[in-house]
Amino acid sequence: MSITKSPSDIRAAARVVGATKLYGRGDSTVRALDNVSFEFTAGVFTAIMGPSGSGKSTLLHCLAGLDTLTSGQVLIGDTDVAKLSDGDLTVLRRNRLGFIFQTYNLVPTLTAEENIVLPLRLGGRKADPAWLAQVVAAVGLANRLGHTPAELSGGQQQRVAAARALITRPEIVFADEPTGALDSHSSTELLRFLRQAVDEYGQTIVMVTHDAVAASYADRVLFLRDGRIVAEMTEPTAERILDAMKGLGE
Ligand code: ADP
Ligand code: MG
Repeated sequence: MSITKSPSDIRAAARVVGATKLYGRGDSTVRALDNVSFEFTAGVFTAIMGPSGSGKSTLLHCLAGLDTLTSGQVLIGDTDVAKLSDGDLTVLRRNRLGFIFQTYNLVPTLTAEENIVLPLRLGGRKADPAWLAQVVAAVGLANRLGHTPAELSGGQQQRVAAARALITRPEIVFADEPTGALDSHSSTELLRFLRQAVDEYGQTIVMVTHDAVAASYADRVLFLRDGRIVAEMTEPTAERILDAMKGLGE
């Protein structure tokens, strides 16, 4: 269920305009993104699906400032990321974006709590204790805060990563196959947390997944094939998503 938005609430948290990404050159050029334009509405949970090699990760990485387009634009809010210096891009990523990767990417020598607040510390900021407590409670890690990643299960580590992604109250959280390494129970917990972040805090989330059940937690699903948007779905169900994927030859 998503919150009904009045027209004045509808704004793009991020946009891609004519996004094209080429890898390689000459005969071996791969067109990973081919003139993609899309608006990621604020407060909406968007899933990106498509067959392997369709450009999902490339789109996410370019949106998140981890890779650059060959042509076209990425805007975060009204900021054109291509116009930022490396330093300003680092600050934008740290303060305005959150990331969840398939492989957690936690710092092994830090405790769960230290990992969660790391983006704030790197920016010279302190955690708001009430918000930290709320995020920690939402991911169910209150009694694991002193543990290092090696002392946590995969599902717990991914929930630490999710808490870390939300601690700065970022404009957008980007997730690339966040449930890819999790069992179904841990996947469900993580997806419920992401859904709750959208419904209760108005979080904007963009998640790449190849799992129809994971994508069904989103408000909107974008289907890519050969670097192009070929379909969109709102109020998705796993069944409808699977049908759409069959139509894409997956
Ligand atoms: P997906 O995440 O949907 O599986 P990707 O975005 O990873 O797809 O890849 C899209 C296309 O770009 C694929 O053909 C892939 O082989 C190619 N590609 C991705 N990254 C690179 C790279 N660093 N160098 C060359 N080709 C790449
Ligand atoms: Mg990928």
